[in-house]
Amino acid sequence: MIVGLGPGPAEWMTPEASASVASATDVVGYGPYVERLALRTDQRLHASDNRVEMDRACLALKLATEGRAVAVVSGGDPGVFAMAAAVFEAIETDPQWLKIDVAVAPGVTAMQAAAARLGAPLGHDFCAISLSDNLKPWAIVERRLRAACDGDFVIALYNPASKARPVRITQAFDLLRNVKAPATPVAFARAVGRADETLTLTTLGEADTSRIDMATLVIIGSSETRFIPRDGARHPLFTDLSSQGSQIDGLECDRCDGLRIRSGQCE
Ligand code: SAH
Repeated sequence: MIVGLGPGPAEWMTPEASASVASATDVVGYGPYVERLALRTDQRLHASDNRVEMDRACLALKLATEGRAVAVVSGGDPGVFAMAAAVFEAIETDPQWLKIDVAVAPGVTAMQAAAARLGAPLGHDFCAISLSDNLKPWAIVERRLRAACDGDFVIALYNPASKARPVRITQAFDLLRNVKAPATPVAFARAVGRADETLTLTTLGEADTSRIDMATLVIIGSSETRFIPRDGARHPLFTDLSSQGSQIDGLECDRCDGLRIRSGQCE
């Protein structure tokens, strides 16, 4: 079983995920995630470093072929920049492993937890991009950032910074600032659901990227995202589609046979 533990607090872990961990003989995962779990003494723990995802996946599959009940754990959702992809990639490398019964227990991903704290920033089309260039060239990250701006998506940035790649977040913001309006709402959601959670609301023009670390999920608004100022408001960020007219002006309307759209309406 590949299990998502959610972003931190127990109430954001699904009952299925808890049951999968409880019924495992062996738990495999990145050290800090595994430490969150109160494992029993009869359960074997295989904690490893962050960068060895394929090794961890192969270990889990090897244990499974030995008849062990293995839970491979990830923070958040295991299918979002996490272990599920590594396990399925590893499965292809050994014909024995193709026979293993693998299931995925989903989890609340950081982007959803952050969005819930902020209001409704992901209420319309959005995308998620990891700024880590461990597994892909930086040029691809830049191409996807540009494409996301071109499509006017709300953008959730995972893995925004690390000690090994301190300049990437600045480069990403330089690119975004070249294309998007300085007033675009931006949120830094750090350690959401944990004791040291912090939320920073700012704009693209004013954002201080030195505040962003590896525990931060960054949300960049679309042209339709806005703050709703309310006294003591908990939910200030909202992406609105009703004002979308300006975005689609000049496009052909697919319902009206080639008519052009002006001010959000068919002519
Ligand atoms: N599988 C995880 C993501 C792993 S990538 C998930 O679905 O959430 C690691 C990145 O996720 C971090 O660099 C950060 O950008 C984000 N992240 C994970 N947990 C977080 C949390 N509690 N608060 C804010 N961001 C978080």
